[in-house]
Amino acid sequence: MKKSHLKKELNKLFKSLDFISENYLNGKSRKKDVDQFFTIYQQLGIAWEFLGLQCKHWDGYKRTREGNEVCKICGKVKSVDESYYLIPKKGAKKIGFKVVPKSKKTFPTKKKATLLNDTVNFHGAVLSVEATNSYKSSLLGKKHEITVAADRIVTLKERGIECRIDNYLINVKVQKPKKKKPPYGGFPWEIKKKDLKNFPVIFKFDDDYNFLGLTILK
Ligand SMILES: [Zn+2]
Repeated sequence: MKKSHLKKELNKLFKSLDFISENYLNGKSRKKDVDQFFTIYQQLGIAWEFLGLQCKHWDGYKRTREGNEVCKICGKVKSVDESYYLIPKKGAKKIGFKVVPKSKKTFPTKKKATLLNDTVNFHGAVLSVEATNSYKSSLLGKKHEITVAADRIVTLKERGIECRIDNYLINVKVQKPKKKKPPYGGFPWEIKKKDLKNFPVIFKFDDDYNFLGLTILK
């Protein structure tokens, strides 16, 4: 929405909000009416929030009596998180920005170290992004304290397959182990050729045998 159009729409909405509050929520109306108009007021509030998402706060902020800085156009309080995302129905969607841990500090808990932990179910594919600074954790109860390195972990789940990318590894889980014990792992040269034949993996490489990627056949 263009600035001028948005301004007009917001002004109309503010007038409606004032109208309801001055005429029906002023303590003089019947309780039944008050309840109904209160609901309408709330719904207008939601419309305000959604219209506000389109505001780029072009005209800057003004200070209120309570000492907050609010946008001159939409009334959004400066530096307060928006609670909805507005994304186009067609074309590429963008939500948030790339969060990478930058702090040199080690935080006492994972919760305090977490910068982002968010998931989107996008047309049936589940994508999660987790970014954490370094934090203290413990192994085997409280006996062994360890420091978990800062990381950014992106996980995609589709058709029972999980692909996880972090700072150190690219992990693909094609299926869960059939037995309860943890799976074995090994470099290809550690595995017997006859056993390797069970693995439907094709390595991609160039003339100098630089690893370029791999394909897993389903
Ligand atoms: Zn604004």
